[in-house]
Amino acid sequence: MFKKILITNRGDVALRVLRACKELDIPSVVVHSTADADSMPVRLADESVCIGPPSSAESYLNIPAILSAVAITGADAVHPGVGFLSENADFAEIVAAHGLTFIGPEPRHIRAMGDKVEAKITAANAGLPLVPGSPGAVHTLVEAQRIGKDVGYPLLVKAASGGGGRGMKVAETADHLGEAFSAARAEAKAAFGDDTVYLERYLGQPRHIEVQVIADSHGHVVHLGERECSVQRRHQKLFEEAPSPALSAEQRARIGGIAAEATRKMGYLGVGTMEFLYEDGEFFFIEMNTRLQVEHPITEEITGVDLVREQIRIAAGMPLSFTQDDVTFIGHAIECRINAEHPETFMPTPGKVTAFHAAGGPGVRVESCLYSGYSVPPYYDSLIAKLIIHGDDRDHCLARLRRALQEFIVEPIPTTLALHKRLVDADAIKDGSYNIRWLEEVFLKEN
Ligand code: ADP
Repeated sequence: MFKKILITNRGDVALRVLRACKELDIPSVVVHSTADADSMPVRLADESVCIGPPSSAESYLNIPAILSAVAITGADAVHPGVGFLSENADFAEIVAAHGLTFIGPEPRHIRAMGDKVEAKITAANAGLPLVPGSPGAVHTLVEAQRIGKDVGYPLLVKAASGGGGRGMKVAETADHLGEAFSAARAEAKAAFGDDTVYLERYLGQPRHIEVQVIADSHGHVVHLGERECSVQRRHQKLFEEAPSPALSAEQRARIGGIAAEATRKMGYLGVGTMEFLYEDGEFFFIEMNTRLQVEHPITEEITGVDLVREQIRIAAGMPLSFTQDDVTFIGHAIECRINAEHPETFMPTPGKVTAFHAAGGPGVRVESCLYSGYSVPPYYDSLIAKLIIHGDDRDHCLARLRRALQEFIVEPIPTTLALHKRLVDADAIKDGSYNIRWLEEVFLKEN
């Protein structure tokens, strides 16, 4: 096992990894920017190293500074968490070149899945069903028009380096393709420095359903069921649940089996998530995330598996501590993302939190780095807390969620807590009939 793990992340993600380290009795180091000097992970870690000023480029993405922190502290493994360098294949390679362990998949898999065009080719070779679209990158409008004729409209232009829903534009008809094509390319160039795009049929009312997979270096691959992540705004998830209200046990076993088999064929190592769109009983692969997901706790709640603990053990060369037959799904879990954002305008609301009270009681888990007196910095992602509820079944889980939301206090900054309080009583949430369009096109328009 590792002597010391260095965590290159912040906020509740750093805290989550830190907790797993402590439970495994592995000393930990947290790196941080000057803006996070007073943060919970810095206070709770065995050691901490300041690696730069607030801007992420100069701190959490600053590879030389991170390597210096490794050298100073004598860590032998690096956990990248979620976001920042977690899907940076160059970083994973540099870490390995320094004789350290990167707690994540091999660089070749991060690289293949980071380029969505290559990811789709890899996925198709591994037997996954794809959304109909261009076979690879599309470089000219003429080529796009030709593919549009075959695939049909509406058509989605997507950035090969895309992430966080950026670089995606819909062409309703062939007449709109030119505009969508150049807009997606320009946005992709600005956001990712790469204007490569590809085309996919734009599905009308799909659900976003993803499968958690985990593989060790001894040839064992297991799937841990699915997560339903269709409640989205601007392609960003806000509320997730497991299992999906749309799937039967047979469909779950089928898509889980397909995802596990693809993972095996790829020779993948560690935790990963295969994302699918699901419409009219059919699954279409859209991308694979080669890291832990923000919504991983709901899978942990229904399976009893500690994904971060397993991830660390696998990176240390140990076998998975369970088999597919050991995996059983117990009850239902929901995660609400509480963001420092105005619940109606979604404008960021950084600032000092003078009153914080986390919900508690049976079936309630809170992943947050908040405390009374903490100032939410304006420099980073607006996620400040994850409220995770486990119940005997879906109705029980929703009832618990409703009461937990009433207990939860974050003041005075506006947060998405207010939105979740309204969401939990919406008919489409109660009956599970929502899809990826519902939040923006129905709920936010009516409420
Ligand atoms: P990103 O990496 O930017 O998050 P994804 O490919 O994972 O991009 O897609 C994010 C979201 O965009 C999906 O959850 C879905 O809501 C929407 N989306 C992506 N592809 C399609 C498609 N072909 N048709 C309809 N919606 C899509």
